[in-house]
Amino acid sequence: MPIFRFKAMETLLNRSKIPVGLDSVKTSEYFGINVFNDKTMKSYLSKEAYKAVSLSIEDGVRLDRRIANQIATGMKAWAMERGATHYTHWFQPLNGATAEKHDAFHEPSGNGEVIQNFDGDLLVQQEPDASSFPNGGIRNTFEARGYTAWDPTSPAFVIDRTLCIPTIFVAYTGEALDFKTPLIKSSAVLDKAATKVAKFFDKSVNKVHTTLGWEQEYFLIDEALYYARPDIMLTGRTLMGHSSPKNQQLEDHYFGAIPDRVQDFMYDFEHEALKLGIPVKTRHNEVAPNQFECAPVFEEVNLAVDHNQLIMATMEKIAIKHKFRILYHEKPFAGINGSGKHNNWSLATDTGVNLLSPGKNPKSNLSFLTFVINTLKAVHDNADLLRASISTAGNEHRLGANEAPPAIISVFLGQHLNKMLDIIENSVSGKKMSPDQKTELKMDIGKIPEILLDNTDRNRTSPFAFTGNRFEFRAVGSALNCSSPMVALNTSMANQLEKFYNDVEALVKKKIKRDEAIFQVLKKYIGLSRNVIFEGNGYSDEWLKEAEKRGLSNITDTPLALKAFIGESNINMFEKMHVLSRRELEARYEIRMETYMKKIQIESRVLGDLAINHIIPTAINYQNILIKNVKGMRDLLDNEEFDRQAGLQLQTLKKISSHISNINEKVKLMIDSRKKANKIKDFTKQATAYSQDIKPYLNDIRYHIDKLELIVDDELWVMPKYREMLFIS
Ligand code: ADP
Ligand code: MG
Repeated sequence: MPIFRFKAMETLLNRSKIPVGLDSVKTSEYFGINVFNDKTMKSYLSKEAYKAVSLSIEDGVRLDRRIANQIATGMKAWAMERGATHYTHWFQPLNGATAEKHDAFHEPSGNGEVIQNFDGDLLVQQEPDASSFPNGGIRNTFEARGYTAWDPTSPAFVIDRTLCIPTIFVAYTGEALDFKTPLIKSSAVLDKAATKVAKFFDKSVNKVHTTLGWEQEYFLIDEALYYARPDIMLTGRTLMGHSSPKNQQLEDHYFGAIPDRVQDFMYDFEHEALKLGIPVKTRHNEVAPNQFECAPVFEEVNLAVDHNQLIMATMEKIAIKHKFRILYHEKPFAGINGSGKHNNWSLATDTGVNLLSPGKNPKSNLSFLTFVINTLKAVHDNADLLRASISTAGNEHRLGANEAPPAIISVFLGQHLNKMLDIIENSVSGKKMSPDQKTELKMDIGKIPEILLDNTDRNRTSPFAFTGNRFEFRAVGSALNCSSPMVALNTSMANQLEKFYNDVEALVKKKIKRDEAIFQVLKKYIGLSRNVIFEGNGYSDEWLKEAEKRGLSNITDTPLALKAFIGESNINMFEKMHVLSRRELEARYEIRMETYMKKIQIESRVLGDLAINHIIPTAINYQNILIKNVKGMRDLLDNEEFDRQAGLQLQTLKKISSHISNINEKVKLMIDSRKKANKIKDFTKQATAYSQDIKPYLNDIRYHIDKLELIVDDELWVMPKYREMLFIS
């Protein structure tokens, strides 16, 4: 066995079992202990400061400096009791990770001693040296400065002896350089638009907030094997590897017993998550071997996004403690399922009602249908934007590839809701409805709750599915910050609800009763959005054909999909809603195109190196063994015997030679294409060149490497194989 595969195995065998901190403490006793939450604030802040911060959280009221100082003092006292020595503004720049720069609380006081220093100014705003974060040209033209500003709606927390303060990150000119800023704005506009519409049905509604429940899928791989795979280390996925004879075909992993070692890991990270106030709830094996999922109870969207970022970082750390590596890549292994992050999305009122949940009477059900149909219309009208919001180099392996959600955005409603839409379409006409007609329609609508309780009506192949009391955006990639799809969805929905409100009011002005006006507008929307509804198998070829007939777009190429960010109508919508400006959208487009290009560039370099430095030398070694063997046979055997016995070896030799020369040639062509593409100045053209001219080589070269893997002596093969990596025990 080659030395480092041997080492990998050795580490595996010697791995000591990591003791789990088995404590008998109830979850309720440590849930949120590392969070400066409402309860903690009450005891660490003066009444005045607590009231001010509560108002700021609920209504965005600005905090004055004096109050900010008081809050900082309380926060510091609490954090130091929790063992914190440092503090940091914690933000989400557009590179997809979270950023933090730690400063110590203490400062020299001038007489050889230190004082603990953290005041309101340091809490509220900071200026990190941000020149190395992606900005899409925003900071180059003006000042190179970036600011972080406290987001009081997401509570501060202590992690690893550091007080982390969630912040937004903006340029000197005010433009957003992060994921959080537009998310907060999109929730605010959705709140405004949804509240106006919700008031049609219930005057007491004063606020609507977006809820998000994400489901995070991930792979685990043993640390030793991870280190023996430079492709996984550098790109997060395998760029080569023949499929294992057994993978997921027996479907024996999904919901199966969780291996002990993984269970220990889950216990540990969930424990940390609970201390951070993340309400983790569900854990199970996923479809592919070594694939798992973690899901919390849903929360307000801004908090849910922060919690997702936080848990991803926590899981990464805890995985290392357990001698695992966690893979968030959307497609770490070819031929088996990839990972997604379903975004369960809904709207909740301050009166405690889920607007996407059927109600108890015809009125609340009409409200429910109104929000469902408006979501349908929003997705129909903004399908390309939603598609762009989830487009990344990693997710490209899922969307439009062999499995997982297709690149076509469609909506699944289930047969009962579809029936309701039919009823509305058929019973509402442009003419005034008779009281009998109205009563009948309302009775039909009143039946919804019973039928929807039947939760078997599920479709797991739809990218956007109604699941009883929420929509589930299933096409989101596992590595992506949920903010991206949530901003697209919230803004589209806000825009849609505004239109709806105006359409209804226009009819009311024409003396049509409001409930009838609502029916008429809904009927119109159903007709306009019908072609985005699809109830069948989203992975089938028939759907591809059918979608094409319907004129739905099916963009499998990432650079092309990303274009929607700078489509004129999308820019207009975002500007009208004050969520993102033209410049901010252009910057985001540029950053995502560049990131895409760089990811393919890195993959191409890694594969080229591995092919030339690892694979070809190994193949040649084996070739030489065969040559020696054939030569020996020639010495020993007569011609006839030689032909008979050495025939197979000679054939194998030829095969090896052919794969080697194919790899050599294709790596050379790939490098040539890269050189050409690297000279392109225009980033759109460059990303397109990487997608169209360079990416195809990755599969081409891999094909020959995977064939060699099947031929070459296992003892010589340097990289751990799929069958070795995919089964944790
Ligand atoms: P499944 O895999 O069947 O979709 P899970 O239990 O894994 O179900 O995930 C369901 C997710 O949906 C959870 O994260 C849950 O919190 C979330 N969810 C439930 N109700 C809502 C809601 N009203 N708004 C947002 N998310 C919700
Ligand atoms: Mg789900």
